[in-house]
Amino acid sequence: MWGKGGQTIWVPYGFVCGLASQVCHSCFRRQANLHRCAQCRFAHYCNRTCQTAGWDEHKQECAAIRKLGAAPNENVRLAGRLLWRRNRDQGLASDSQLLAVDQLQDHLRDLPGDQLQALQADVQTFLRFWSCGSKQHPADFISHVFSLIKSNGLTLPDQRGLQMVGLGLFPNLSLVNHDCWPNCTATLNHGNQSAVSSTLHSPLRMELRALGRICQGEELTISYVDALNLSADRQKQLKERFHFDCSCDHCSRHVGDDLMAAAAEAKPSADAVKEVSAFSKETLEKVEEARRDGDHSRVLKLCQECLEKQQDVLADTHLYKLKVLSVLAEVLTYHRKFSEAAGYARKMVEGYMKLYHPNNAQLGLALMRSGVTHWHAGQVEVGHKMICEAYRIMMVTHGPNHSITRDLEVLPAAFRSVLQGPFLFQQKFRLKFRLNLITEPAEAPPPPSHWTTHSSVLD
Ligand SMILES: [Zn+2]
Ligand SMILES: [Zn+2]
Ligand SMILES: [Zn+2]
Repeated sequence: MWGKGGQTIWVPYGFVCGLASQVCHSCFRRQANLHRCAQCRFAHYCNRTCQTAGWDEHKQECAAIRKLGAAPNENVRLAGRLLWRRNRDQGLASDSQLLAVDQLQDHLRDLPGDQLQALQADVQTFLRFWSCGSKQHPADFISHVFSLIKSNGLTLPDQRGLQMVGLGLFPNLSLVNHDCWPNCTATLNHGNQSAVSSTLHSPLRMELRALGRICQGEELTISYVDALNLSADRQKQLKERFHFDCSCDHCSRHVGDDLMAAAAEAKPSADAVKEVSAFSKETLEKVEEARRDGDHSRVLKLCQECLEKQQDVLADTHLYKLKVLSVLAEVLTYHRKFSEAAGYARKMVEGYMKLYHPNNAQLGLALMRSGVTHWHAGQVEVGHKMICEAYRIMMVTHGPNHSITRDLEVLPAAFRSVLQGPFLFQQKFRLKFRLNLITEPAEAPPPPSHWTTHSSVLD
């Protein structure tokens, strides 16, 4: 197979269900004015078009929710959707695609006791949820499905990549192996189900997209973890969540570890580096706690103190420094302190560009947010460059039809107009960006990784 950057190689078949209440259960767009399913009063939709498009998947679930009296958790609903579809499609052409559910390995035996108990509780709820009239499945097959959801389930982002709003299982995608420096990325495209013209409708889909040129015979790979981790930490995460030892080229040669744990150019003593690293680790834990409590002034104070300590000791590519910079940029942007935020955001993306694959989706999203922050800070030229680079990356990782890419498409033109035109124009666009791209940092942080596992976000 030959692929080039941005080419969609394969669109895997999958099962999805909604997590949040402010999300359409058909197209997974997040918005305020949704309509509730009149029967179960649980599912929400943008409009009739979305409801009609989602009815096949919701019909049996709707009846089961009414029978149970309440909607069960997302694992149970996803398992239900998978097994109802399996029953409906048996003997049809799509049967071969469903084979992947049987082929995939589960890791039931590797699960620690508490996780196994939670899984068994879900199986019990499922048995009550599953309608008596439906075809029965052997208990070990149901456990197999729940185990697959546990190890292969993906949280799905909204149309702007700001919040996780759904849970999905894409059995064929789960057959694609991991590499810490992959040649593909998997991206959720929300499709187009706007009520305006039904001829333009396209469904929600998962796309496997090439990050660059792929040679004939080369294995297609995606990354299950964020690249911004030391190789030992990535290996640990992969072992815990996916039960395998990563021996990819980047792990074997520890590529990037030197930069991600580097000391500053001022050549501090090894003891100083050790001390500041330990201090940073401790502070970042406190920062997470303060973020969960919504105490933003404490978050800012902790981060600024930490950054001061890191000065002249840790390099600009050190992971702890980048983490502190990213929190500062995010929280200050939220509080409209754009000039201050822009300084931190710029340092952050400069570090990211040295560490990430040049076509990494996380890098693209960081450049986009940083570009918008610079715009608000009045640093239009720097912002414009970042937005253009973000657009280049998103054309590869998300493609021209994704909402994020389409948002980015109009930004460079707006930036150019401001560079040349009247100030009033800037005011007009300012409000729009604010609404679309700035999010509450404590409640809805941007996804830590495009390929975040279900368990890491919900646990
Ligand atoms: Zn919708
Ligand atoms: Zn319903
Ligand atoms: Zn690896």
